[in-house]
Amino acid sequence: MDKTLFLRDLALLDTENKDVTTLYNEISTLAMQYAGGIDEAKGRKNAYYLSMEYLIGRSFYNNLMALGVLEETREILARKGIDINVFEEIEDAALGNGGLGRLAACFLDSAAGMGLPLHGFGIRYKYGLFKQAVENGFQVELPDDWQRFGDPWSIRREDEKRVIEFADMKVYAVPYDMPVFGKSVNRLRLFQAEGDAAAEKISEYLYPADDTEEGKILRLRQEYFFSAAAVGELVDGYAESCGTDFKNFPDCNVIQLNDTHPVIAIAEFIRLLTVRYCISFSEALNIAKRTFAYTNHTVLPEALERWKDEYVKKILPDIADILVKISSYAEREYSALGCSKEQATDMAIYRDGTFYMANLAVYVAKKVNGVARLHTEILKNDLFASTNKIFPNKIQNKTNGITHRRWLELCNMELSLLLDETIGRGWRTDIGQLNNLSRFTQDTVNKFIEVKRTKKQQLLDFIAQREGVEIPDSFLVFSQVKRLHEYKRQLMTAFAVLELYYGLKCGTLRGLHPCVFIFGAKSAPSYKRAKAIIKFINEIAYRINSDKQTNDTLKVVFIRNYNVSYAEKIVAGSDVSLQVSTAGLEASGTGNMKFMMNGAVTCGTMDGANIEIVERAGLENNYIFGATVNDIAKLKEEGYNSISYISNPNHRKAVDSLIDGTFSDGGTGCFKDLYDSLINAENPDGYFVLYDLDSYVKTLLSICKDYNNKINFAKKQLANVASSAYFSSDRTIKEYADYIWHIT
Ligand SMILES: *Cc1c(COP(=O)(O)O)cnc(C)c1O
Repeated sequence: MDKTLFLRDLALLDTENKDVTTLYNEISTLAMQYAGGIDEAKGRKNAYYLSMEYLIGRSFYNNLMALGVLEETREILARKGIDINVFEEIEDAALGNGGLGRLAACFLDSAAGMGLPLHGFGIRYKYGLFKQAVENGFQVELPDDWQRFGDPWSIRREDEKRVIEFADMKVYAVPYDMPVFGKSVNRLRLFQAEGDAAAEKISEYLYPADDTEEGKILRLRQEYFFSAAAVGELVDGYAESCGTDFKNFPDCNVIQLNDTHPVIAIAEFIRLLTVRYCISFSEALNIAKRTFAYTNHTVLPEALERWKDEYVKKILPDIADILVKISSYAEREYSALGCSKEQATDMAIYRDGTFYMANLAVYVAKKVNGVARLHTEILKNDLFASTNKIFPNKIQNKTNGITHRRWLELCNMELSLLLDETIGRGWRTDIGQLNNLSRFTQDTVNKFIEVKRTKKQQLLDFIAQREGVEIPDSFLVFSQVKRLHEYKRQLMTAFAVLELYYGLKCGTLRGLHPCVFIFGAKSAPSYKRAKAIIKFINEIAYRINSDKQTNDTLKVVFIRNYNVSYAEKIVAGSDVSLQVSTAGLEASGTGNMKFMMNGAVTCGTMDGANIEIVERAGLENNYIFGATVNDIAKLKEEGYNSISYISNPNHRKAVDSLIDGTFSDGGTGCFKDLYDSLINAENPDGYFVLYDLDSYVKTLLSICKDYNNKINFAKKQLANVASSAYFSSDRTIKEYADYIWHIT
């Protein structure tokens, strides 16, 4: 970046009488002008990340920081009488749903930060994930028109648009390039669908409802649309510069498939090589096998996509043929390798009129990875056990990470400065140096307590302003912020909070350190139970917050429209991170890492990356409770009788509040349905909420007790900061680069 010119022009910029959006666009455009172009790593291998989601958040501050001009910009604007915080009015680009999309954004940031050639491909949705409002305690979804603020960080590349062909329509894929700034300038290329109204629908919404045939076909179109645009560009680009012998293609390109959404890229790749470049099918398949790698993000069946063959045949007949052909190659190969019939069925790509996209990915990918150690073990021993037997080195672990640039340097300047003072500035570019904090002095602890207080105050001020709930800064802050899903067990936290409340009301619970529970979560629009849980939490919050008798001890707040920018404040200002998923179901979690790096202790189950977090930060500095994966397997085997675990009247009362008239669900019956799912269903309480409730409540109480000793508690928190280097996505990306991508 040409800093001097940028700062000169910024100082000259006329800011009089301009609104925030105008200033945002003018300053961002100025930065883009001097930032320098995207580095195409010609002559060396590039990695490409294909992802349906990029949960980028706000670009303004992050990009100015990455360009090294954030502080000077702040000062220049201050001299003009503008507080740089006004740009918080610019809302997030939420082109993603949750952890998976945020991971994609963190990976791009880390790769650019380290100068590694990783570039992203995705979709430029007109509307991102919906904006969440709450009416009468119910979630309401509003369209998120993120482009209304302008999009100064993207460049439209009309000249590089491609035609994507479906049987019934032709669509233009027009690239928009977003530079990713760091040691190198990498590229996130998002395709916008253009053409007639039907064509434009393809890039209109992230995850349109797919409970109808029309919806399913639209989803398939979206997946093919961006996968084909990406692969087409790479294949044609290679042919142009290296010729049409594709043998060396994998020496120059590696394509990482983020979950099953872009797996159809494999078929498109083979289609292009065989049809456009006349390579034989088996050769094309072999080249694909050296090009693609696949990341699995969850063992929940909903994310392992399958397509009915009739849908694929209808809109992509050539792709359907190729999928069938790959499937028969796989069958032959598996049988030659001596697979049993059972194993072959397990790994089948095409069976009973259905294409199994995860099985396709696992067959073709040169490497398959899970996203935390436990998750990868489950892939090896369970979900992909047959594959693991035949290809024992194919499945690898790559524990997720988060970029410490956004999640520490940007969101917690105060802690960052304390780290600079304590261990020097080197950690900012070499996160491993954070390990030098391991032995800290009392003076550092005292300063950390001060930082935590400041960040908590900022968070609570923001919540007061946004949500209208006032919380004193003496309160201990517990946070559970993440998508709403039964496996994440927000409902269990709701019950635990109710138990604390009832205990305070009837006087059996005395001397509780004042505390607040912050919930933030969006539910998928069609996920009824998740929406019922949001309503339940809101009812609890209204009740507790308006109770004068307990008001000075307990509060609950459901923050609306949880997103990246909100997360930046919450992770920095919280004391305790609630990570309480049913063991075996949270593949990794990355929210847990953000909290850890900002010095919140984890209260959680032995699940996902929590295991690796406590392994590094120490069991004594965190709060682990609940059933383990083995316990759960045993419970399932023995037959789990959920109701027997709430014989304690306190637990009973909390759970019964769903049906005893304590709270109203507005006549929808949704609370009764939640209750039935726990007690009366055929397979009651499939997420073991009632089993873990008892130990959860006890753990929360012990945290409140420990918090009375502020210094000891701060030491636990600081120990978490000091051992969080491993969870920087710089480490994760380095592992992908070394062991999967082979890029430098
Ligand atoms: C990090 C992040 C997530 C993922 O959180 P988990 O607790 O790992 O599920 C989801 N949404 C947003 C906005 C995030 O920043």
